[in-house]
Amino acid sequence: MIETQTAVCPGCESVSSVIGITKGEAVFRCHECSLLFYEQSVRAQLPKDSDWWRDLSENGGVVLKKSLAQMRPMFNRQLAQLEKMTERRQLLDVGAGGGVFLAAARERGWKVMGHDSNPHAAAAAKAAFDLFFVSGLNEIAKGSVDVVRLSHVLEHVPFPVNFLREMRLTLHSEGVIVVIVPNAASLTYSLVNSFRRKRVTLPRLALPMSPGFHPLGFTPRALEIVAKSAGFTVISLRSVSMGNRDYYPWFYDGLLRRIPLSEIGLKTLVRYWGPIALDNFGNKFGRGHWLVASLRRAH
Ligand SMILES: [Zn+2]
Repeated sequence: MIETQTAVCPGCESVSSVIGITKGEAVFRCHECSLLFYEQSVRAQLPKDSDWWRDLSENGGVVLKKSLAQMRPMFNRQLAQLEKMTERRQLLDVGAGGGVFLAAARERGWKVMGHDSNPHAAAAAKAAFDLFFVSGLNEIAKGSVDVVRLSHVLEHVPFPVNFLREMRLTLHSEGVIVVIVPNAASLTYSLVNSFRRKRVTLPRLALPMSPGFHPLGFTPRALEIVAKSAGFTVISLRSVSMGNRDYYPWFYDGLLRRIPLSEIGLKTLVRYWGPIALDNFGNKFGRGHWLVASLRRAH
């Protein structure tokens, strides 16, 4: 009986039980910290390699340069927030992809370096912006980094506390980590799941999780407990919605321009504006689609 299985939480080591199925695998929820996760062997599945970054490096980074032009205003707003937290300017972006955020930071005077588990990403970042990427964190002097950025990274790793501790080693004593992850407790997921739970004992749950890609699902509480266990204090932890211009510019800045007003019909409203409106509403209660946490290294 799968619904009676238990597992040890990778965030706080407490007992966790199965609450449902997502993408074909059982999802456990920690009784203590509320982290959602797959069982260990499923969690450790490697992601399928993608040709995405290889293709991006081959054209000399034209796509990435265009992306920088589009995302610069948004990244400048994120960087302005960071600049209030630290006066030091050494940035490490882990899961940096093609380096668009790093390129934007360098324009503002930051010293930057990147890391990505996909080696083709580093090649793409080099081709587009001539950025420096390390192939492992052991190449970085301990205590030399002022800000580590983990944007859509922590939900991909099987053991989040160990992972954050490794990041902590690179940080200066006053260093800051910014973590952005999907919010598994968003209003949208909660509404869908409360409906599904009424029907069966082991419901198919809508969660931002899938084997080999997103092995973890964070709630605000889970993220806070994982961060504290790894030796950080929380400066701020909030949700942001799909309509937030600082983190997700596509809908207000992009979509409105891409779709002419004359073509906006019922389908567009249901597909785009409906979910955004719900998400914006949920975000007023900390239940938006993403979580953004700023963490400072505790002494
Ligand atoms: Zn836990």
